[in-house]
Amino acid sequence: MLSELFLPYIRLLAPYSSARGEYQASAKEVLLDANESPWGEFNRYPDPQQARLKQALSIIWRVSPAQLILGNGSDELIDLLVRSTCRSGVDSILTFPPTYGMYKVVAAINGINVEEQCLNESFQIKLRSLSKAKLAFICSPNNPTGNLICKSRIIQFLDSFSGLTVVDEAYVDFALGEQSVVALLTRYPRLVVLRTLSKAWGLAGLRIGAALAAPEIINVLCRIKPPYNVSTPGQELALRALDEPERMRRTVQRILAERERLVGRLATLSEVEQIFPSDSNFLLVRFKDADKAYESLKSAGVIVRNRSREPSCSNCLRITIGSPEQNDKVIEVLRC
Ligand SMILES: *Cc1c(COP(=O)(O)O)cnc(C)c1O
Repeated sequence: MLSELFLPYIRLLAPYSSARGEYQASAKEVLLDANESPWGEFNRYPDPQQARLKQALSIIWRVSPAQLILGNGSDELIDLLVRSTCRSGVDSILTFPPTYGMYKVVAAINGINVEEQCLNESFQIKLRSLSKAKLAFICSPNNPTGNLICKSRIIQFLDSFSGLTVVDEAYVDFALGEQSVVALLTRYPRLVVLRTLSKAWGLAGLRIGAALAAPEIINVLCRIKPPYNVSTPGQELALRALDEPERMRRTVQRILAERERLVGRLATLSEVEQIFPSDSNFLLVRFKDADKAYESLKSAGVIVRNRSREPSCSNCLRITIGSPEQNDKVIEVLRC
């Protein structure tokens, strides 16, 4: 039973119902059920099911709407997943550092242990002794290292791990070829894939993320999500952007071209020791002295992420690919 992956009191919650949720509101009805104002442009609560947005996303991601839950950013879904599967002070999540910091932050806030299995020297997961964690987070392409995690390793992991496996694909639209593990959902019902509109779609300000999983898992998560977690303007503006997938593709192509150009320029700098291969919209770069490089960028008004205190990332900065002018500025500052 898939629902056994969730805590008993979560599993037993009644399906959430809002007055409006059971009722497809249309402009014709007299809506006096939700204590809203009768006037204004955004006077009504948003659709708690986000039906139109899920419909549009289900086509793009080739899943059914029943396999989707949307969140206030994928960060909200990370939080829901951790809280619904792990007991405070008892259970653990499994992560593969260096990786996205939010997994650990959410665990810490909820008093949940973190089991860490460091990535190997090529930043791939190593298959080790069985973990008793309830939930594992594999980030692919990984943040801050930038590389994809081998699909065959992910499959091996899925075959051996008895908990819920989350593959965070925040950056997958930047990877070449068909790299998503979404197609594995039918074969691996304990798999959850995270996606976001914050990166390739350029909509970080809207705060819209998604989890893709078996309907049974989605069902449980929908019971515990805040009902109105995606605003009406958020849903509408996202729909508008999704209507132009070619535009997203073009943006991704521009960023990839800029990434290649930046790699070429960085490679000529004596301060740069190593540029790690990237399948994402950022570069992990090892410097002779990362703190010094970070400070000179900062004094010139260029803010990057200093990752040099992360495991295997000594003297490394994570640099997001910006516009051509922004990238030129990075080079200009680092050259002197
Ligand atoms: C940026 C990022 C997210 C996105 O989070 P949102 O809350 O959807 O903006 C998720 N996972 C990783 C690894 C990220 O780097």
